[in-house]
This record gives sequence, C-alpha cells and structure tokens, in this order.
Amino acid sequence: MNQEKIKQIFDETAYIRTGGSSEELRCAQYLQAQCAQLGLETKLESFAVPMSEMKTASLVVDGEEIPCKGYFCAGSSVVEAPFYYLPNTDDWSMAQCKGKIVMIDGYLGYWKYQDLLKNGAVGFITYDGNANYVDENIDQRELRSYVHQGHKIPGVNINAKAAIRLVENGAQQAKIVLDQNEYEGESHNVVLDLPGESSDTIVFTAHYDSTPLSQGAYDNMSGSIGLLAAAEYFSAHPHRASLRFVWCGSEERGLLGSKAYVAAHEAELDPIVLNINLDMIGCIMGYFHSCSTAEEKLVHYIEYFASEYGFGMQAVQGVYSSDSTPFADKGIPAVSFAREAPSNTATIHNSYDTAKVMSPRQMMADMNFIIAFADRMANAAKCPVERKMPDNMKEELDYYLMRKRKTAK
Ligand SMILES: [Zn+2]
Repeated sequence: MNQEKIKQIFDETAYIRTGGSSEELRCAQYLQAQCAQLGLETKLESFAVPMSEMKTASLVVDGEEIPCKGYFCAGSSVVEAPFYYLPNTDDWSMAQCKGKIVMIDGYLGYWKYQDLLKNGAVGFITYDGNANYVDENIDQRELRSYVHQGHKIPGVNINAKAAIRLVENGAQQAKIVLDQNEYEGESHNVVLDLPGESSDTIVFTAHYDSTPLSQGAYDNMSGSIGLLAAAEYFSAHPHRASLRFVWCGSEERGLLGSKAYVAAHEAELDPIVLNINLDMIGCIMGYFHSCSTAEEKLVHYIEYFASEYGFGMQAVQGVYSSDSTPFADKGIPAVSFAREAPSNTATIHNSYDTAKVMSPRQMMADMNFIIAFADRMANAAKCPVERKMPDNMKEELDYYLMRKRKTAK
C-alpha cells in the first residue's frame, strides 16, 4: 500500500453504496479483486436485510407540499393529524403527542420511537442536514426492525431548513402518505483468512457500505483500505495468531454485517482472542483515538505502545458505535481505531464525505501504527488481553444495545 494506491482506491469507490444495494455488492467484489491482486482468496458471505422500494412518499402541511423522503420499512398508510414539534421530552411535552404527527430533533432511536408510540403519536417527522449549508439534501432513512419491533407508524425525513420554516410558520395540520413495497434483500461480508501457527484468532473488521447521500470515503473506505493494507502486510510477514479479515456490509443500517457475522459463526467464536476494528481513519484534520471494549489494561497498553512507537493518540475504554460492538457483546475483547475530524472540517453521512477530506499521507501513518500494534498482538507468545468482558463494559453494552435505558427520559 502506498499513497498512490490509496488515491486510486478512493477514486474507484467514489459512489454511494448503501447496505443491500447492487452498488454495495459492486464494492464487495471490488474489495475481493483488490485481495486477488495480492494473491489472496476471499469469500463472500451473504445475509438477509430488509429492503424497500418507495412508490409514494409525501408530506403536506397546511396545504403546502414539503419535500421529504419517506422512511423505508415504515409501512404503507395515510395519516392526517395536527402537527406537533417536540423539542423536549418531559412528561407534559410527551403527553401532547397523542393523536398528532410529531416532529423531533435528531435521530429517531429505539427509546424515542417507543416513547412516541406510548404517548399516542400517529406519525413522525425527522429532519437532517444543516440549516447553514447551501444544500437542501434529504437523507433516506429507515425504520429499523429493532426500533419498531413490529409496531409501525408512518414517518418522513425533511431538510433542516424546511423544519425551521414549519415551526416558524406555526404549522397546524399535517398529512403523511407512504406507499412502499417492503421485501427481503441481501447484503454481504467479504471474508479473508490468513492462517497462523496457532488457532488463536484475531479478527479485523471495517465496514465498506455508505449512507444514502455519501460516497463514504472517510466513513469508511478509509478503514476498508486499512484492512487491505493489514492483509497485504501480514500476507508477507509471519504471524503466530491466525488472522481473519472481515469487510462488513450494512454497518450504517445498524451493524447488520457484523451482527450477521457473529450469528453465522457462533460456533467458531471461542478461538477469537481480539477484534481490531477500523472505522474512519486518515482524514486531514483531527485527533486519533482508540476505544477498547475490553479490560482497562488494554487501554494502558495501547497508551504505552503509542508512546514507545512515537504516535500521538488518546486511548479510552468504552463502546464504539461500529462493528466491534457485536464482537464485544459475545465477550470478545474489541478495539476500534479512528481519527476523528472536527465537524467543521469533515463530516459524515452526507454528500460532503468524499476523498477531498482525506489525506493519503495521514492514511499511511495511521495504518502503519495500527499494523504495528496488530503485529505485536499477532505475534504475542500468548495474547495478553483477558478473554473476558469487564462488568462496566457489559453495562455499557446493555445501554448501547438498548437492553437497558440510561436515563429516565
Ligand atoms: Zn462508519
């Protein structure tokens, strides 16, 4: 791997590739071809994902058509009801949702959706983008199965500028129409094995899918290139541990690829001693960090290692919102590496995530550090990380995976 090759891969993957789409499969096959060029044979593992073909999606407020995108997998229905903007989540505010089409700030996660249902909302509006940007883009959202749990109400996503106008104009009455064909589709993980002397296995992961508006250079072709670089390195260098590389599909749709991987390989998880996950590296601006869902000793080891190596970074213990989490939830110590850009220099999940925010030079530096760390782990006489999830991380996983709620609201 070198800077020229990095530029070339960013160029050749500068397209949107959402989970389950034909473009995602095209990218999976591209990664397979990249491995084949290195003489490495990969497997494609498919898994089922919910898909939708939207026929009609409209939002009319007080007689005016508001540009919107209907939520995939939120059913097909027509609702007309009073409009209600819900910026607070106190009991009084929530009680006002009854019989209304409710507009919320931010993402519609599991708890927020359950609160809307409990309080009798009949439809929902979310908004994204940034009121200070020139574009009027609207992201394509979906009502995830673990959010609706079988209870669907219709919803649309609109641009932040339109949301502001609705509130400013004192919107009264809203109507949502959704008509869509929901079906089961396929997404794919790309799997590469580099057997070592030992059956102890280190699994490397990085997702290669993108969100609907994004070319996903930073999030996460960068990490996918990192995995290619690691595979190239270890194919030419000895490693005691067996290594498996998994380029995950459908991460952006709720870690679906890594969840499918640990489910399909449940019987083979025992020998996995560590998961190393790459999600967003090599941007021009920003700080580097590791997030270990593992015993705290690993955090300190990484700090010492970085200092010894000569690499600026911060190491923390925590749950990272990426493909490392399904592994950690199976009790496998997991560490994610990322370079996080200040949001006014590079953003993700929108049309601004392109190769323009990436630095091939920084990519090389980040990848070399990650590979050096991985080399220590892959050649350790015994992987030093305890194969046990500490209680504080188990609790964080319960919160992240919505088995427990962090606050009353
Ligand atoms: Zn990502």
